[in-house]
Amino acid sequence: MKQQTYARYLWSEYQCSGEGAMTDFLSRHDGQLYFGDTVNLNELVERYGTPLEVVYCPQITTQIRRMQAWASQARQQTHYDGRFLYAYATKANFAAETVQTALAAGAHYETSAATDVEIAGHLWQRGTLPDDRLICCNGSKETAYLEAIQKIRLDGCTNIVPVVDDLHELQVLSACPAPLQMGVRERAAGNRDGRHPGNNRFGLTASEIDTMVEHLAETSHQLVLYHAMIGSQVEDQDHFLATLGDSIRAYCQLRQRVPSLRYFNFGGGMPTSGYRLDFQFDYAGFLTRLMTEIKRTCQQYNVPMPDLIGEFGRYTVATHRLYLLEVGSTKAGQQGEPDWYLVNGSLMVSMPDMLLVDDQEFVILPLDHWDQPVQPVRLAGRRTCDSDDVYPALNRPPLLLPAVGSGMVVAVCGIGAYQQMLSGRGGAHHCLTPEPRRLIIKEVAGRTILHTTPPQDQTTIMQLLGYQPQPTATPVRIRSLHRRRRKKAS
Ligand SMILES: *Cc1c(COP(=O)(O)O)cnc(C)c1O
Repeated sequence: MKQQTYARYLWSEYQCSGEGAMTDFLSRHDGQLYFGDTVNLNELVERYGTPLEVVYCPQITTQIRRMQAWASQARQQTHYDGRFLYAYATKANFAAETVQTALAAGAHYETSAATDVEIAGHLWQRGTLPDDRLICCNGSKETAYLEAIQKIRLDGCTNIVPVVDDLHELQVLSACPAPLQMGVRERAAGNRDGRHPGNNRFGLTASEIDTMVEHLAETSHQLVLYHAMIGSQVEDQDHFLATLGDSIRAYCQLRQRVPSLRYFNFGGGMPTSGYRLDFQFDYAGFLTRLMTEIKRTCQQYNVPMPDLIGEFGRYTVATHRLYLLEVGSTKAGQQGEPDWYLVNGSLMVSMPDMLLVDDQEFVILPLDHWDQPVQPVRLAGRRTCDSDDVYPALNRPPLLLPAVGSGMVVAVCGIGAYQQMLSGRGGAHHCLTPEPRRLIIKEVAGRTILHTTPPQDQTTIMQLLGYQPQPTATPVRIRSLHRRRRKKAS
């Protein structure tokens, strides 16, 4: 049997040709891999070595602009009267460079925590978060969160919208001396499909919503927003729409009684292309069908069409970051098992969802050697001693990668959402795995600006753990001895 090359394998499996666009954030030209069709990853490896984290902020701008364009197309097509508001769910990635890029692209802000409101307040004071943007505050709210909301409102930010998650929050917020625009989260949406059991703890039941409406009538506060979130990475369009249907009806019924209601917020769930090369989702089609459905239901109940809000977490940021890791050594697998490619990092620290989410995948691509035969392998993190530091997990099929071994560099994509927050960016990691050099690429006034932060050093890691080392600032650099050959087009 003729041995299959990596290029042929990608073609037969994913119809990726190895020349031109591969996904909506990756492309390949003359044998070199590009991020956002702009940043040559092979060149970055030459210049900075590995391991390297690449942050390509313009991808966030692209994601937001695309969605806004699809929404305006859908509004025109369906003659939808309400506006479409794109909010960034910051819990997907709180990094300053990430949040600021999303705001610059026009995003509204969705918070999940007290400190998140502090950050929003700080950005609002500085004008980075303009006055016309909403700040929707979700999640269960302890005292500090409720106080942060009231503080920013009393500072003059009128667009802060606490989304009430239980009646106790309503009691506390009602005492705010300045009038608040409030939202309510529908509890029924959380696990209507039976697939998201943990999600049904959020929000109010229908009878609690009635209580809230009666209570607010006695105050100067208003109910303006109805929140219904059904899940995350929802790739089945029919299911997404069918599950939201009951929430749209509930909105309309409530709107008949509460004329101040004007936002329907479907929360998160919009899927990202970051996890699979064969991902497909018709975003424009989805928005068109959603607006059609809302419009139809509103007409049925004789209420005006609401402004539609989506809170985009994964969709906004999963694709704007990747890691470049290098195979430093290989180890033969046991009898009948694939070989191990040992990389200069930790997979479980880089993408903890591989352990937390059943069957979570990430796109992993070699930078070179596409003309070489493929071989089934598993990646293992060399900077931990953990038997779970393996991708793909042992109950999943191995990866097919060029049979090159040592010296091969792979791009680990789709890690921009949740992964760094879960693993604790800037912290002391499993087996003291140091964070790699970070290269942040931004576009400011049409110019591309590069900024790098050094790898985490040993002194920092020891200090984080309470040791008082002499500040030697020795960078943790376990560079490969292998010299990379510069490989031109293949
Ligand atoms: C996490 C979360 C989001 C973002 O979800 P994604 O699926 O990542 O887009 C949006 N809204 C709320 C209330 C959330 O908790």
